Amino acid sequence: MIAPSPLVTVLVPVKDEEEAIASFVQRVSVVLEGLGEPEGWEILFVDDGSRDATLAAIAAENRADPRIRCISLSRNFGKEAALSAGLDHAAGKAVIPLDVDLQDPPEVIATMVARWREGFDVVYGVRRNRESDSLPKRLTADLYYRAHNYLSADKIPEHAGDFRLLDRKVVDVIRMMPERNRFMKGLFAWAGFRQTAVEYNRAERELGTTKFNYWKLWTLALDGITSGSTLPLRVWSYLGGLVAVGTLFYAAYLVIRTFVHGGDVPGYPSLMVAILFFGGVQLLSLGVLGEYVGRILVETKHRPIYVVRETIGVPLQPITR
Ligand code: UDP
Ligand code: MG
Repeated sequence: MIAPSPLVTVLVPVKDEEEAIASFVQRVSVVLEGLGEPEGWEILFVDDGSRDATLAAIAAENRADPRIRCISLSRNFGKEAALSAGLDHAAGKAVIPLDVDLQDPPEVIATMVARWREGFDVVYGVRRNRESDSLPKRLTADLYYRAHNYLSADKIPEHAGDFRLLDRKVVDVIRMMPERNRFMKGLFAWAGFRQTAVEYNRAERELGTTKFNYWKLWTLALDGITSGSTLPLRVWSYLGGLVAVGTLFYAAYLVIRTFVHGGDVPGYPSLMVAILFFGGVQLLSLGVLGEYVGRILVETKHRPIYVVRETIGVPLQPITR
């Protein structure tokens, strides 16, 4: 039986994590029991198209404790889509997305719930150290947060992951958002409400391996910037304007020089430089245009963000977007 509205839902997207499920459930249930809440809790897994025995492992946990639930997607839709699916099906008055690899210590949940009780609607976790990440990953992450916050109107807190507590109000706002491009950190930031941070130390991944390579992270970064800012689109008109003004002066200089010194043939290198430079700039700006147009295409198709194949202990929710 599903308890009517548990206090918190811990939302866990999983892809090929069969060896991590049991230890995760064990450690997180201790924390959730420790909250001592009569209103209870649930752990909601979103199986994001796992090809191993992840779903069977979750089903076993569900038989032992029906508060452990699952929705299983029809294929791998990516972590952002899996989180969206989880937010749609979470029953809790607060929802806490948490990775299954226990890099983010679940013990912080107690602090998050305490801050929530004080009246905050979003309590996001900030990594105090990123020593568990490699140096290139730390550097690129740092660069990304800076670039994103410089370009975008929705500032995302630096080094805050998806581990955070979201009040039901915030969850409902995010559920209403129609876009297919689900850059969750951007959506959380856009939603607003009373937000606060808790700091914690991030550990190494205990079991399994990371599901994110640099290409996936780069794609995620592009999604974040294109969904949060149109500056990359608009900057070209300014650059074009500057070049046009510069060219005007250069043309005047050429005319005067021809009058003074007479015409001369040389000029091949400067011509090549100009052609190559503007060829490059044009291709780049076309590429940026392509990034946005491609995303417009995806949005206009209005396809669902995810497809549910089966659920364990969760009623299937109609799509409300
Ligand atoms: N994950 C997912 N779908 C994906 C990739 C990852 O649901 O396509 C889940 C994964 O199982 C894990 C979480 O997202 O619970 C974070 O992934 P990971 O720990 O590999 O990322 P990292 O911490 O290395 O950024
Ligand atoms: Mg991880």
